[in-house]
Amino acid sequence: MTTCLNYIQGQWKESQTGDVKEIYNPTNGTVLGKVQQSSKEDVDEAVAAASEAKRAWRKLSGAARGQYLFKAADILESRIDDIAKTMTEEMGKTLPEAKGETARGVAILRYYAGEGMRKTGDVIPATDSEALMYTTRTPLGTVGIITPWNFPVAIPIWKMAPALIYGNTVVIKPATETAITGTKVVECFYEAGIPEGVINMVTGAGSVVGERIVEHPSIAGITFTGSDKTGKRIGQTALTRGAKYQLEMGGKNPTIVASDADLDKAVAGTVSGAFKSTGQKCTATSRVIVHQDIKDQFVDKLLSAMEEIKIGDGLQEGIWMGPCASEGQMNTVLDYIDIGKKEGAKLIHGGNRLSDGALGQGYFVEPTIFDEVTSNMKIAQEEIFGPVIAIMTFCEIEEAFELANDTDYGLSASIYTEKIGGMLKFVEDVDAGLVRINAETAGVELQAPFGGMKQSSSHSREQGEAAKEFFTSIKTVFVKG
Ligand code: NAP
Repeated sequence: MTTCLNYIQGQWKESQTGDVKEIYNPTNGTVLGKVQQSSKEDVDEAVAAASEAKRAWRKLSGAARGQYLFKAADILESRIDDIAKTMTEEMGKTLPEAKGETARGVAILRYYAGEGMRKTGDVIPATDSEALMYTTRTPLGTVGIITPWNFPVAIPIWKMAPALIYGNTVVIKPATETAITGTKVVECFYEAGIPEGVINMVTGAGSVVGERIVEHPSIAGITFTGSDKTGKRIGQTALTRGAKYQLEMGGKNPTIVASDADLDKAVAGTVSGAFKSTGQKCTATSRVIVHQDIKDQFVDKLLSAMEEIKIGDGLQEGIWMGPCASEGQMNTVLDYIDIGKKEGAKLIHGGNRLSDGALGQGYFVEPTIFDEVTSNMKIAQEEIFGPVIAIMTFCEIEEAFELANDTDYGLSASIYTEKIGGMLKFVEDVDAGLVRINAETAGVELQAPFGGMKQSSSHSREQGEAAKEFFTSIKTVFVKG
């Protein structure tokens, strides 16, 4: 059985605690391996290594740093099958989805590898005609990275790759539930020969390892993706000690289906947006706001599409939806289903744990649809992070926009309509960082900025060129001969 080690100063090593934690497969409860349950002292050692490495790393040219990312991309690509299988075993998403995510990790690495040769500043006319004024960018120093379990390859890479290419060194803490996958990602950098101390990984509880990363005075910036509860706590600590921070958190993403929508497209987008990855995407569709004139037709089509969803072990061919990623996650989903029933929403599909045969050994919940949901219900307000959707209705399009905006979150939103006017008004009025027209709410492109409005983020953006804003500081330079 695999026992994963921490990676500090170019060495794979056990935690100073000597403690390990078993990692379980949510499909059948078997133990997949063990990971280090590290202490604050392990974090301190990792930060010291990253601090020591930062001068030499930032002195390399962007092109030279990029070469390491290109090599890591090639290694990751050659290991897609193994890493995707580990991901499916650790958190349950189907193998095709896991392979797609790993391939995306490869593409992100190559994108940022190229970034090492792109411009880093602008020349700005000075008021003094004999002076040159320009901007340049400087790395933050050592960056702390804390990631969730739902995209255990893509998210660590979309944070590590820009951190590194812009000249920072890194201490990463992957989510414990997917720390074996996280370790395999870091192995790709190790095999690419990244210099000692440039990347350091410490596994362990968020309340110990995560907190120490956030508190550590030598960590100049913290980038976090996860729940809003943890994120806000991290933001407060970072703010108190003056560290830069970036928080990407939850969503309660709406899809509006207008009266003129192509219903087949809307149904396909709803099923895919809501139930792929078992609804465990921050951009998953969780509210469907449908025009009352076409609601019955939409629901009929949706219910027949649900019959096609094959649930089971994500490693098996033909399986479309796997289990919840953990027992805790499954219980949260079942609790929300209970809440929905008590609130008076009409359960029209699913609603139960699946316990027949082999499914009973895992954390499987039926894809669940509530109809007649009102916006004041908890199931219309709180992130469930599971395969559950709430259907609401509207008469006038303005009412649909109001419903869409009536949550604390603002990550992603979509509309199905053929009318250009409706599309443009939606783009203008909806409070969401990702707006999609005639497409499901989920779907993030690595070359474009990604992040949320309202409580979904610290109002920063990741990915594409936007990553530069977090991982660097601007210097304005004035030169007079
Ligand atoms: P989480 O419980 O907040 O955990 C995220 C990470 O934070 C884990 O590595 C966790 O460690 C660590 N952590 C926990 N407590 C901490 C603390 N006190 N200090 C520092 N770190 C701490 O979130 P999750 O359940 O893994 O992920 C699901 C959430 O992520 C959902 O809300 C989802 O919407 C959000 N998400 C957002 C985006 C986005 O881009 N906006 C993308 C994906 C997911 P351990 O769990 O190992 O203890």
